[in-house]
Amino acid sequence: MNHLKSTMQAIVLQGYGGPEQFAAVELPVPVPQDGEVLVRLRATGVCYHDVMARQGHFPRTALPGVIGHEMAGEVAALGRRATDFAVGDRVAILMKDHCGHCRQCVRARDHLCENGSGLFGEATPGGYAEYVAVPASALVHIPAGVSYEQAAVVPCALGTAYHGLQKVAAVQPGEAVLITGASGGVGIHAVQVARMLGARTIAVTTSEAKRAFLVEHGADDVIVSPDLDFAAQARALTGGAGVDVVFNIVGQMAWAAALKGMALGARHVFVGNLNAAPVSLRPAHAILKEMSFLGTDGVTLAEVETLLELVRLGRLKPVVGGSLPLAEAARAHQMMESREACGRLVLTM
Ligand SMILES: [Zn+2]
Ligand SMILES: [Zn+2]
Repeated sequence: MNHLKSTMQAIVLQGYGGPEQFAAVELPVPVPQDGEVLVRLRATGVCYHDVMARQGHFPRTALPGVIGHEMAGEVAALGRRATDFAVGDRVAILMKDHCGHCRQCVRARDHLCENGSGLFGEATPGGYAEYVAVPASALVHIPAGVSYEQAAVVPCALGTAYHGLQKVAAVQPGEAVLITGASGGVGIHAVQVARMLGARTIAVTTSEAKRAFLVEHGADDVIVSPDLDFAAQARALTGGAGVDVVFNIVGQMAWAAALKGMALGARHVFVGNLNAAPVSLRPAHAILKEMSFLGTDGVTLAEVETLLELVRLGRLKPVVGGSLPLAEAARAHQMMESREACGRLVLTM
């Protein structure tokens, strides 16, 4: 490891609050422990989860700490017993680690691992830095022709959309899929994935300015609804029947309209939630219409490998909405909060 630098640039979250809580700090380069790999990061996606973490919504977020769970880079050093990778390999990093032997892991549900330490960048250091040390089991090789920026967007933004639509909602060709928060990082990938699965895509956005962006990325219909009152339009677009799947990235704020816009036998998938308020549901409503209410969280390692291959083949295109140097992390957060960004912003280092 003699050729490695001993210190690195990192953006450290010093306290919960606004973007001014970020500070550029010189930190020691982590030393990979048994089973870990040191990765020289090249790109880290900026997730809305990061904004909420910075604001203090997740008490697991370490202070001071380095956030960020959407990472890609090249292997810089190997800890003992870190196999399957070599220095110089290009790798994407899953959002969290997994043990490989718990009840969930052995059923290929490693994203639900019972022994994991949570998202990278919460209790453990994350991707707003030049280097990170992570378990080798959290790494996936990046195929040739796929960039670091694209790869950083795959596990969270694209992976959450793919797992939620393909696995959890089991979207079938010809079904109508309504996506709330459709111009965001997960949303714009959900539009693409739903279309790849053969669905008719109805994208909901609060801003007329996002319409062209949504159509460009595969939305069959766009509903612009600043107050998220889109049920009547969803019904009108489906000949009165309602939509078969709601992919709800906004959460509680879109609940009432989503419920009114659902077809008989429809599935509602909770993907994201921008506030903590509960939703209300009359059991009779779910029973008589045989509706399903589901949650989705993350993506499996096998799915990330599949997605990287689909990206290599050009079947899916990660939507990198902008690329900023690591030092401009605070600016990236401002862009997220003011909804300036379309698709996923990426920090490069
Ligand atoms: Zn994310
Ligand atoms: Zn496990």
